[in-house]
Amino acid sequence: MSATVNVNGTITDGGTASISVFDRGFLFGEGVYETIRTYNRLPFLYDRHMTRLRRSAARINLACPLDDAAVHARILETVDASAAEEDAYIRLLLTRGVGDLSYDPTTAPTPSLVIIVKPLPEVPAELQATGVAVSLVSVVRNHPDSVHPSIKSNNLLNNALAMQQALQEGTYEALMRNYQGDLVECSQSNFFIVRDGAALTPPLDAGLLEGITRNFVFEVGAAIDVRVEEAVLQDGDLTTADEAFLTSTTREIVPIVRVGARTIGAGHPGPVTQALLAELRRTAAVLSRRS
Ligand code: PMP
Repeated sequence: MSATVNVNGTITDGGTASISVFDRGFLFGEGVYETIRTYNRLPFLYDRHMTRLRRSAARINLACPLDDAAVHARILETVDASAAEEDAYIRLLLTRGVGDLSYDPTTAPTPSLVIIVKPLPEVPAELQATGVAVSLVSVVRNHPDSVHPSIKSNNLLNNALAMQQALQEGTYEALMRNYQGDLVECSQSNFFIVRDGAALTPPLDAGLLEGITRNFVFEVGAAIDVRVEEAVLQDGDLTTADEAFLTSTTREIVPIVRVGARTIGAGHPGPVTQALLAELRRTAAVLSRRS
């Protein structure tokens, strides 16, 4: 895999980048992260990602040692060093740093900041055209009194286990319920259904990651007169949905045409999903023009 990595300010290629085994990010998954993408080689919605990173970090009593401008400069330096022509996938990780084998944060006073840049894995056009199947998995999203789902935590084992079920079933994503049994989100993306022309997505208090793309879809919908609303969604809503889709930074909007054994709507990507995707891309291109 070709990647360029910045570890605490030092850039190397992915094959030689290294971090201490005593970093709490490695030992305990004790850290937070963001996945950012570029359009036109510029980090998209950067301020929103940094706001979420700082919020996630604060919830685990961690502070980012650099201000937003300094992190931005480090990201651009790493993207430039990657020398790739195409758009970039950027993973920004902030961990507790190196310290004793202990849970005591005071013994690891210096956080680690890692930036991984690699070519953006674009969603294949044929998947966008046909839509994807997802699995409704038995792994439930973290209870809000556990590692709160709104923390974009490096501790991703729960999500990885959910995705393993989807991979075993040969599907594209794992749709999870919360501890109350309501549908919440997928292992790496947010979830929407479309009914009667409106796009509906579970509310934040269902216990989910407040996706940057999820939130952007509210703005995109408003621009093209598509209602986008929060709604509690349950298994039965999959049967009455006209369309469904997932959202994430790297995947934008991907139509879902099957959930487990249930076919969604007519079994192919619907007009509301396609209109939202087209408008999202149009807006992203406008916002990413170089002056
Ligand atoms: N939910 C989860 C659990 C995720 O890991 C992601 C991907 N970061 C998302 C939702 C989508 O968030 P975003 O739109 O900010 O990429």
